[in-house]
Amino acid sequence: MAKLLAKLGVEKVSDLLYYFPFRYDDFSKITPIAEVYPGERFGVRGVIKQINTTRSFRKHIFLTQAIIEDKTGALKVIWFNQPYLAKVLRGQEVILVGKVEMDQNGRYLSSPQYEKVKSEQVHTGRIVPVYPETRGLTSKFLRSKIKPIIRFSKKLPDFLPDIVRKEFGLIDLERAIEAVHFPKDRQDLKKAQSRLAFDELYLLQLKMLLAKKEWQMQDAPKLKFHEKNMRKFVKSLDFKLTNAQRRVAWEIICDIIGQNQNAKIKNQNEKSSENELQKQIPPMNRLLEGDVGSGKTIVAAMAMLVASQNKYQSVIMAPTEILAFQHHRVLNKLFSKTLINLLRSEKLKIALLTNSKSTLDNKKINRGQLKKKIREGKVDVVVGTHALISDDMEFKKLALAIIDEQHRFGVAQRAQLRKKAHLTPHILSMTATPIPRTLSLALYGDLDISIISEMPPGRQKIETRLVHPSKRDQAYQFIRKQVVSGRQVFVICPLIEESDKLGVKSVKDEYKKLSKSIFSGLKIKMLHGRMKGVEKEKIMADFTVHKFDILVSTSVVEVGVDIPNATIMMIEGADRFGLAQLHQFRGRVGRGKYQSYCLLFTDLPSKKVLSRLHALVESQDGFALAEKDLKFRGPGEIYGTKQSGIVDLRMAKLSDVKLLQSARKAAQETLDKGLEAFPLLQNKLSAFEAEKRLE
Ligand code: ADP
Ligand code: MG
Repeated sequence: MAKLLAKLGVEKVSDLLYYFPFRYDDFSKITPIAEVYPGERFGVRGVIKQINTTRSFRKHIFLTQAIIEDKTGALKVIWFNQPYLAKVLRGQEVILVGKVEMDQNGRYLSSPQYEKVKSEQVHTGRIVPVYPETRGLTSKFLRSKIKPIIRFSKKLPDFLPDIVRKEFGLIDLERAIEAVHFPKDRQDLKKAQSRLAFDELYLLQLKMLLAKKEWQMQDAPKLKFHEKNMRKFVKSLDFKLTNAQRRVAWEIICDIIGQNQNAKIKNQNEKSSENELQKQIPPMNRLLEGDVGSGKTIVAAMAMLVASQNKYQSVIMAPTEILAFQHHRVLNKLFSKTLINLLRSEKLKIALLTNSKSTLDNKKINRGQLKKKIREGKVDVVVGTHALISDDMEFKKLALAIIDEQHRFGVAQRAQLRKKAHLTPHILSMTATPIPRTLSLALYGDLDISIISEMPPGRQKIETRLVHPSKRDQAYQFIRKQVVSGRQVFVICPLIEESDKLGVKSVKDEYKKLSKSIFSGLKIKMLHGRMKGVEKEKIMADFTVHKFDILVSTSVVEVGVDIPNATIMMIEGADRFGLAQLHQFRGRVGRGKYQSYCLLFTDLPSKKVLSRLHALVESQDGFALAEKDLKFRGPGEIYGTKQSGIVDLRMAKLSDVKLLQSARKAAQETLDKGLEAFPLLQNKLSAFEAEKRLE
């Protein structure tokens, strides 16, 4: 069995002790035989009076029939294909648990679980653990192996400091391990589960806080804030910043100029000498969260401005080429009137670097040459995709690295970007996938968080409708009307090409259908991830300036794309996307002054799908939707917990807010006291570290 156990990750005794059940069957209740009735599951205890096995006429089914008897009566029992039972159970006192059925001869117990009566039951007559199984390895086997070794749980070092255990009312490790496998009762089990879940979250929080501490030990450039220039820049915008944008921009600026957020801006002339001497500060590591369309880009641009006015470089990395192109366009426009040095009227030098395109000052440049210029510090702002983390990429004076839609990148990729500089750069991660506050503690416990909590004024509510298939034509008419009145439309399909998956709409087919017949006469184009970068850019650029009306696309336009004249987001196969993703799509419209609409289509109107999609119809609040998505799908699927560095939480649920907060508090308190005071804990953490390095 060792091989099979290894498959489950079990190699040592302690692995087995930590191999937790995923559910429990409550077989603790024993019912007198006289009282059982058909249609439900019962546990009975008695003596096997008769038992024999016959073969069915077709010769391949063994039928074992028995009679079990207690003081109150007798009951027939049958099992299939377990001929050995006759030998094992004859004359024994047993507990049987199974469903009672009825046939013309009366009640009988159908294929029950069985166990001989012992001083302590393992498989029946108690709350019975059920484990994740693998072919050839059953829960029954695991139970029979874990039971005799459970006593070794006292040898597991209890790394949780006593004070923490007491403060949060947790039981000790030995009892928790025992009870998680073989609980005395429900309450016993609950205590065990919360202790073990706490352990996981506590260790996770400790790791995050330690990572944060370690990060803060590094040196990043201390920048100066030129208030006047910033005012000028903000004035040059064609809108007024929202209060939320001002607040988060200030939080970010304070980080990179090494100033307490509450302090007043220091006049550049009355510099305190102490601050002046200090050229380096702990690097920022901040996550900027803001719902789709809340205006994160401008906040990023403000931070970049601070860097460039200090003669430092900054870089912004986007997950898709389309988004990189857009950022490039937007930043070019934002910075078109901006001078880094007012006296010498120097303009900001902006470069674009993706795998298919590289430009400097909007002029084409060979990629190698661009990299050279970046290395020599002749570029101020670099916009790009993953191409930015290629091996030969290097910055001369990078002060600020911004990662847009950061959840689209892996931990390693994020780390690579910051290694491109000599000093550690300040890191600003941005996300429009609103993360429930508690979850952000679990996922991003090592980051500081800024939240843009309000939308720019004048945004209308986006009318969201779940469109019944019979109303499809009406929807098309509505779309045509919008286009005729000058608006633009997105049509999203789950696939690029037709596949075997019956009925799932593809971009190519829909494009054909819509352009040939349904929307004939309107200008319509398609877009998908398999097109070349230049092609994609041309299409997005054309759509931005309204050279055509309808864009049929895959999810490549999910994030970031900004077309204020677009008013309809039509989504085919909406059931194939998560709520957060649908909310992102919806965020592509309603960005301008026109009333906008999101039309959801699904060919899979199951109750579950409909209730999920209804959540979108009812709520425009990304945070609320994220909470719902969390309930519907669980954190793993949404946030790719692996990516975020959460190894495997076996017991803890990230949705357990209270426990998460306790764990955070405990971890902070422990670190305040100093890890040195807790050698067992230190060992546990370094074992964790070693594991991480091996991965
Ligand atoms: P996101 O947070 O989703 O990245 P963007 O930064 O793309 O959002 O901004 C969305 C749109 O809102 C852009 O067209 C931008 O110019 C506009 N915008 C940003 N801030 C404001 C504001 N304070 N007032 C009005 N419009 C704004
Ligand atoms: Mg954005």
